[in-house]
Amino acid sequence: MRLTQAFFPTLKEAPTEAEVVSHSLMVRAGLIRRLAAGVYIMLPLGLRVQKKVEAIVREEMDRAGGQEVLLPVLLPAELWRETGRWEEYGKELMRLQDRHERDFCLGPTHEEVITDLIRREIRSYRSLPLTLYQIQTKFRDEIRPRFGVMRGREFTMKDAYSFDRDDKGAEESYHRMYDAYTRIFTRCGLQFSSVEADPGIIGGSFSHEFMVLADTGEEAIVGCGGCHYAANVEKTPFSTGASAEETGPKVAELEKVFTPNLKTAEEVAAYLKSDLHDLAKTLIYQADGNLWAVMIPGDCQVNQLKLKNSLGAADLSMADPETTERVTGAPVGFAGPIGLKDIPIVADHTLSDRENLIVGANEADHHYRGAKPGRDFEVREYTDLRLARTGDPCPRCGKPLALRRGIEVGHIFKLGTKYSQTLGATFLDAQGQERLSIMGCYGIGIGRTIAAAIEQNHDERGIIWPMPLAPYQVVIIPVNTEEPSVMKTAEDLYARLQGEGLETLLDDRDERAGVKFKDAELIGIPLQVIVGVRNLKAGKIEIKRRRDGATSLASLEEVLTAVLQIVKEPLPS
Ligand code: ATP
Ligand code: MG
Repeated sequence: MRLTQAFFPTLKEAPTEAEVVSHSLMVRAGLIRRLAAGVYIMLPLGLRVQKKVEAIVREEMDRAGGQEVLLPVLLPAELWRETGRWEEYGKELMRLQDRHERDFCLGPTHEEVITDLIRREIRSYRSLPLTLYQIQTKFRDEIRPRFGVMRGREFTMKDAYSFDRDDKGAEESYHRMYDAYTRIFTRCGLQFSSVEADPGIIGGSFSHEFMVLADTGEEAIVGCGGCHYAANVEKTPFSTGASAEETGPKVAELEKVFTPNLKTAEEVAAYLKSDLHDLAKTLIYQADGNLWAVMIPGDCQVNQLKLKNSLGAADLSMADPETTERVTGAPVGFAGPIGLKDIPIVADHTLSDRENLIVGANEADHHYRGAKPGRDFEVREYTDLRLARTGDPCPRCGKPLALRRGIEVGHIFKLGTKYSQTLGATFLDAQGQERLSIMGCYGIGIGRTIAAAIEQNHDERGIIWPMPLAPYQVVIIPVNTEEPSVMKTAEDLYARLQGEGLETLLDDRDERAGVKFKDAELIGIPLQVIVGVRNLKAGKIEIKRRRDGATSLASLEEVLTAVLQIVKEPLPS
């Protein structure tokens, strides 16, 4: 492509709404443009990168035995009513009506549609196992669309679904997909980690998330150097009995103490010359309209996902300050378990064998110390509620965990019979018995993968594409456009590189060299082939790598081989 003919609208300034570097760079480098919140136009450069990712995904899905289909975006509500998700999915589901006032939605995911297809078409065990996939636009009315294509309301996803005769087969399908995902993100040139995850609204028996490691990631993940355990922080369990030694003065009896204006756990602990861990925080939560008091050690945070799951709640949030004051009779900061009427208490399991706890007194400016669960207050349920922290013991081997951040680019689930059951997707086994097929589902965010690649590969000048994702592999930059020999050599090289199948740009614009270099760096082309008067007089061409700026000179004859060699280099591991 000649830059004089290209539609590559680059910008000097980042858009004001860009909170992360990938969003800013995708707009500045002319990959995307915003049409509405969470809705983006893919410009030519962006689409080329998208096609690169899609090609890798397709190859690996096919290699794993998948077959590509294309399911509609416009989906009838009846199917979603059958599984209960018409109600369950809530506001994220984009709903609409046709001219006959029949309900439809724009597909956010396709379990319903694919399971319906399979229940109509598959009769016999001989047709199983089967894995179908598609690369299709999805719609989700995200509460906070942000970060450009990373969290859009309209986005491209690869989704795959497997159907097996039995559990063993389903696990094999799951592992095949796990391996395919590992190959996909490796081939994209990304640093990633696969972690154990929570199955969430899709449900099912187990799942893994594939995280591209980047400090700007929305997800917190824990990793163990000892045994290679890795999990989403939301999922990390704790064993019981891991409570630290108590450090504060021992108080056998319950004692009310004056804690004037001390609202945070840190302030109270310092004032009472105790450790944060000697304190138990009491927080008021609302779960599906019911109030709960939630107790957690003072030095820990509540893991809201664990809380939600243990209460079996669909909807969970912290109570607002007015509600907290009404049920505790005290300003926020002084809530405690003692004398709390009407609302049940759920507590982190490490609190069950504690005594000598400092807790709020449900009275302004007062706390208790010496509190003991069971004696001074009743706990309805003990369960694991803590959010993992750096240094916590690994649940597998006990070694300290480290916390990192990541971007979830892929998610795989073993679904079991959740959808085959509700939709009646059965087949006849070898004995003529009717059985439910065992399912798995597997997603990759194509746009999010592109954004994550940029989060991981950029510098202050712009994007640094890993070679497999680069929209073009090489850009030829003639430095002195007024010089006929320079332009002729550049044109010549352009034809030769293209002849070798290299994806090549020719910056034939009548611009200063500085402008050309800036643009090439912003859009992140991995290799620059620079044609300048002085080098040309010596019969040389300069080759420069975007990633480390390393340059080398090649003769006119060598340049093609040199470029080909770099393009085909194995990825740095
Ligand atoms: P998240 O927790 O980030 O909302 P999710 O659990 O809802 O993700 P899945 O339903 O598992 O996501 O979707 C599969 C993949 O689709 C995700 O791993 C992600 O890469 C991508 N994805 C999900 N939501 C979006 C979105 N709003 N914009 C872009 N990609 C998305
Ligand atoms: Mg989501």
